[in-house]
Amino acid sequence: MSDFDYDLFVIGGGSGGVRAARVAAGEADAKVAIAEESRFGGTCVIRGCVPKKLMVFASGYGEMIADARAFGWDVGEGDFDWKSFQSKLSDELDRLEGVYQRLIDNSGVDRFDQRAIVKDAHTVELADGTTKSAKHILIATGGHPVRPDLENANLGIVSDDIFDLPKLPKTILIIGGGYIACEFAGVFNGLGVETTQYYRGAQILRGFDEEARGLIAEEMKTNGVDLHCGTDIIEMSEAEGGIRVKATNGTERVFDKVLFATGRVPNTKGMGLEDADVNLGRKGEIQVDEYSQTNVPSIYAIGDVTDRVNLTPVAIREGMAFVETVFKGNPTKPDHDLIPTAIFTQPEMGTIGIAEEDAEEPIEVYATSFKAMHSAFAGRTDRVMMKLIVSQESRKVLGCHIVAPNAGEMIQLAGIAIKMGATKEDFDRTVAVHPTMAEELVTMREPVRRT
Ligand code: FAD
Repeated sequence: MSDFDYDLFVIGGGSGGVRAARVAAGEADAKVAIAEESRFGGTCVIRGCVPKKLMVFASGYGEMIADARAFGWDVGEGDFDWKSFQSKLSDELDRLEGVYQRLIDNSGVDRFDQRAIVKDAHTVELADGTTKSAKHILIATGGHPVRPDLENANLGIVSDDIFDLPKLPKTILIIGGGYIACEFAGVFNGLGVETTQYYRGAQILRGFDEEARGLIAEEMKTNGVDLHCGTDIIEMSEAEGGIRVKATNGTERVFDKVLFATGRVPNTKGMGLEDADVNLGRKGEIQVDEYSQTNVPSIYAIGDVTDRVNLTPVAIREGMAFVETVFKGNPTKPDHDLIPTAIFTQPEMGTIGIAEEDAEEPIEVYATSFKAMHSAFAGRTDRVMMKLIVSQESRKVLGCHIVAPNAGEMIQLAGIAIKMGATKEDFDRTVAVHPTMAEELVTMREPVRRT
């Protein structure tokens, strides 16, 4: 019989926390509790991946209507009704939140719908003042978006606020060049909002393959996003009908809304972590070892709060690895190598492995750019790009970058082969699926460069 109230107390009911709690209770028979201060499902379900992707879908219909006409359909223009979409979105998020709550309840986990903080190595304090003891504490509190340190920055919104906007703005300025900024630039532009984007760096989507970033930036501009790289906001103030923004490019303009997509920080403030002597990094992230264990042996942390690879499937895997390690006697390190991922910009990107610029060994680059059959027929100018980075020595495919409709779906499958260590010759041995865009991945014969 344990001296603690619980074997495991999980703080945070998002992607990582819910999975760890369910698996520890369901598969390892542990006595588990979980606390969530906002809504179960966390960032991904309530204010991240899910509502974002639904907005990406919504914003694509304008183009589809135009395409339908090109394919012979007699369809009118039609208007987007934000209120109608928003109400359906809200119902869907309520439904998903309910699914998460039921999953927790059905796995026998005690659910606390309130904030929790760490009191000491084995104690959690709930917002109602009660305390619970636990053999292990798992912190999975995620992160939140931050505004830059700028006077009047509170006039701007952050990604959390988008889904609750009372109406669609006529004009929006998006500040930032990361994937969240670029995805929402595509969304607002597609919904008919006059969209401007300022990013202080030389090119959007820093860290990804340069050629892919370049193509996405070009296509975003062609689609209507007024994208200015090398541009930052200097001043913002209230103005009649909106927010006046002075920028480093010498412009002064008024926008209905300004969206700051300038970064996220881990949720560690006021969590009692300093008092419990848990080591934090410079951004406030919880420092953990390869098994997600902090310097306090009974306290572990997973997901965005550790600021490793901030993606839902990664938080989930870190949660599963934690349960394997602590509750199943099978020490498991979450594998952060070769993670396939999608950027839901318009055009979409699917990517895995190294960018061409990051190669540390002699490589061959196979690349092709073409007009997809569907776009060519519809009379659109957009181009698709497929690129493979291949090791000259091992012949292994070290990176794959796709800019194309549904690139996220493609990279999931290409990712399996690449994770298995497929060589360029393995790709070549695979018969093309015709006519598709993805067939180009197995039909690129000659490298465009060797470096
Ligand atoms: P979260 O999901 O953030 O969950 C943490 C939970 O802890 C929250 O519910 C919070 O309310 C709760 N909490 C915090 N403090 C406390 C406390 N003291 N007590 C109790 N509860 C607390 N990832 C992808 O893989 N694909 C995408 O397309 C994608 N798109 C995204 C789009 C946006 C706009 C954003 C913001 C993120 C996106 N992400 C995407 C990232 C993804 O949402 C996160 O990586 C993922 O949610 C991290 O899971 P987590 O469990 O670490 O934390």
